[in-house]
Amino acid sequence: MGRRPDHAQGTGIGTLSMAGGDDSKQTPATRLVTGGRSGDFAESVVNPPVWRASTHLYANVAALREGVKTNEDGRFFYGRRGSPTQWSLCEALTGIEPGAVGTVLYPSGLAAIVGSLMAVLRSGDVLLVADNTYDPTRNTAMGILKRFGIEHRFFDPLDLVAYDAAFCDRTRAVMLEVPGSLTMEVCDIPTLARIARDKGAVSLVDNTWATSLGFPALERGCDIAITALTKHVGGHSDLMLGAASAGERWYRPLRMGAQQLGHVVSPDDAALALRGLRTMAVRLERETASALAIAEWLCRREEVAHVLCPMLPGSPGHDLWQRDFTGGCGLFSFVLKGRDDAARCRLVDALELFGIGYSWGGFESLALPFDVEPVRSRMAWPKAGWGVEDRYAIRLSIGLEDAKDLIADLERGFDAMDKG
Ligand SMILES: *Cc1c(COP(=O)(O)O)cnc(C)c1O
Repeated sequence: MGRRPDHAQGTGIGTLSMAGGDDSKQTPATRLVTGGRSGDFAESVVNPPVWRASTHLYANVAALREGVKTNEDGRFFYGRRGSPTQWSLCEALTGIEPGAVGTVLYPSGLAAIVGSLMAVLRSGDVLLVADNTYDPTRNTAMGILKRFGIEHRFFDPLDLVAYDAAFCDRTRAVMLEVPGSLTMEVCDIPTLARIARDKGAVSLVDNTWATSLGFPALERGCDIAITALTKHVGGHSDLMLGAASAGERWYRPLRMGAQQLGHVVSPDDAALALRGLRTMAVRLERETASALAIAEWLCRREEVAHVLCPMLPGSPGHDLWQRDFTGGCGLFSFVLKGRDDAARCRLVDALELFGIGYSWGGFESLALPFDVEPVRSRMAWPKAGWGVEDRYAIRLSIGLEDAKDLIADLERGFDAMDKG
């Protein structure tokens, strides 16, 4: 671990070495443990202290004046630019994102998406948005971005010809997400990102599902990798946070954009996210194994028409997932066979272990009935070849409970569904 206290810089208390150095030889799972611990505090405690501060005090006027000359993590300035708690989290996140030189934090995952888009786009630009992105991402394109003079075009990320044709000379950026929100399609990110680059556009990817552990997005060709830390990194359903990581070209604009938007995250939340990060690899491994067992079990149920789980051999998107990903997680969906919404509600309401709620990636399992039609404009639902009745879907976020208990809970749900 590169511990390089440098008292000549700022106060010395928060000085951090940025990613790289010897750390790069470690595997990502090890870097989850060692990352973000290069500050001076690491000589006496494992975790950075929670620095609650609007005001940082300077030793003298010269130090105060020195503070405005640079804009780097590791130098105290004012609370909005963070303290060792937030810098440690940034350092740890940069350390697990191959190709990144820095990470910017945001108060939510959505704020990270909007903040990144606003750092990249200007009035008159056209933004291409994959049709299966997170619904609030679509709303941002249709709402505030439009009001600021940025046009958007939705495209089907599985249709490379239509994607290619969607570019014009004002296309400045492409917003991607993999797998697609709710419907779990896996698109060919390396190809989509390469086409964007060839056409002079910036590619941003919402990588919340796999995180950089399962999908090193910058290495796969994207320019900006965005993660809702609210999900796997927090991991305990008790915080909202987001991050964007990038290489040389985009890190500075992201940072300036976030600062000009006034974004800051609380040191308490940053400390919780760091704590979550330490165990993320273990949780993801366990959740992935349970999700696979449950997805296989669902495939054998006659009540189920389709299991949308790219980690599962034979499921849509599995080939690309296998080619491009090094890991998965506990989030997937399934579609009921010939049932209506009332039947679906009976199923979900009968579940005792699965909570009913938004979000995912926590230690506890969740079930969410969802409807696709209102949140797509290019991709068909039900999908081609499916029965028209087969459209009522449920998303599961598999947590750390024993998969056997979760299967018993789903069995209870199926019983209740067909008793109604
Ligand atoms: C939850 C989620 C977000 C937004 O994260 P928040 O922290 O809830 O704002 C963004 N993208 C995806 C794919 C998500 O599931």
